[in-house]
Amino acid sequence: MADFTRTESDLRHNVNINLNVRGLPQSATLAINELSKRLQAEGRTVYKLGLGQSPFPVPAEVVAALKENAHQKDYLPVGGLPALKEAVAERHRRRESIDYRHEDVLIGPGSKELMFLVQLVYYGDLVIPVPSWVSYAPQARIIGRHIHWLDTHHGNDLHLTPDVFERLCAQDPECPRLIILNYPNNPSGTTYSVDELKAIAAVARKYRVILISDEIYGDLHHQGKHVSIARFYPEGTIISSGLSKWCGAGGWRLGTFVFPRALHWLREAMAVVASETFTATSAPIQYAAVTAFRGSPAIDHYLVLSRRILKALGNHCARKLQRAGAVVPRPRGGFYLFANFNAFRTELRRRGIYTSQQFCDTLLEETGVAVLPGSAFGLHREELSTRLSYVDFDGAAALAAAEAIRPDQSLDTAFLKRHCAPVVTAIDRLVGWVGNL
Ligand code: PLP
Repeated sequence: MADFTRTESDLRHNVNINLNVRGLPQSATLAINELSKRLQAEGRTVYKLGLGQSPFPVPAEVVAALKENAHQKDYLPVGGLPALKEAVAERHRRRESIDYRHEDVLIGPGSKELMFLVQLVYYGDLVIPVPSWVSYAPQARIIGRHIHWLDTHHGNDLHLTPDVFERLCAQDPECPRLIILNYPNNPSGTTYSVDELKAIAAVARKYRVILISDEIYGDLHHQGKHVSIARFYPEGTIISSGLSKWCGAGGWRLGTFVFPRALHWLREAMAVVASETFTATSAPIQYAAVTAFRGSPAIDHYLVLSRRILKALGNHCARKLQRAGAVVPRPRGGFYLFANFNAFRTELRRRGIYTSQQFCDTLLEETGVAVLPGSAFGLHREELSTRLSYVDFDGAAALAAAEAIRPDQSLDTAFLKRHCAPVVTAIDRLVGWVGNL
């Protein structure tokens, strides 16, 4: 029998693993989830503020559509089910007043996979602000692209500014580049104003930078007022979205890209790679997604309630952390907070904590609160920032409870303590831990 066991020397030198993948750790979010599960299996209470998963159930009519379509067994066209592509195009057409058509849409098994494909087929450098979502940079690294991280600062909510972007582009104006802008943002929970979007769009246009607008949290803008940068740079923007966040269906794995006509060549190149790799996204999921993307009054209502809960909870947590001395941008959409604890550096050093990873490990060990280190989002390891996902609560019960409260009444602390208890307790524990350093 052939023996594929690796020798100690193989392991030490990591031979037989593609050079670009060597040494890459597993995605940080998945790793913290596994660690949390292990602690729970040992009987510890873990507050799961690490994984970015919607707390809410998939809307009932979308679940019903999936059941009705369980028999769909044929391979679908590589670009996606025509009815779904039309529903996605229609949704963006309505919102952005841009004349999108079904042929502008590409469906994939999660927007993460589509992000990977676009980086694979487009030969250019990746440009991303610090902090950025955990997977953009590893994907670029796997493919072998150059990555340019652009600095941001807390003074303007960790937003990319046009001057920083322009400075990079001006160094080599002809260099092909792809920038990914994500708003509402993971990890900061903030979003860009229309003026900020216009200014960034102007730089992208000037240097012909392809802009991927990652709007996976767009429908979770806390006031329902998300605006796409595609309005200001339609010819160079690809809108990325999917079912995972607003529809609570991360595990269904369905993502969408919407292209301008001028970038159809990129869509076609991605479809070629898709045809040689995943073939097409799961057929029953695509049929069910038609119901989700077409929308309905019930789905709109579900979104109104989801946003109401996230807004109240995000603000509650941010206020508590700010009062405790952390620097936290005010949340505007999605379900994340990005808290900086540099003010506690002296006390933390006394405890042997120098990096955000050590901060998270010790916090988890001593309080059961699982959060992600800022270093997973591109920050320097000694920057004491952490990302908190305020999603550890029973979303179905919270939706039902919010339903009973008049729309003009805010969801108060009593509501949050009752219906989002694990998150409220986790923040209290974190604040208590920091206070006792
Ligand atoms: N973009 C951002 C900013 C995310 O947070 C995520 C998931 O966490 C994704 C993209 C990928 O989402 P999916 O692959 O589920 O569509």
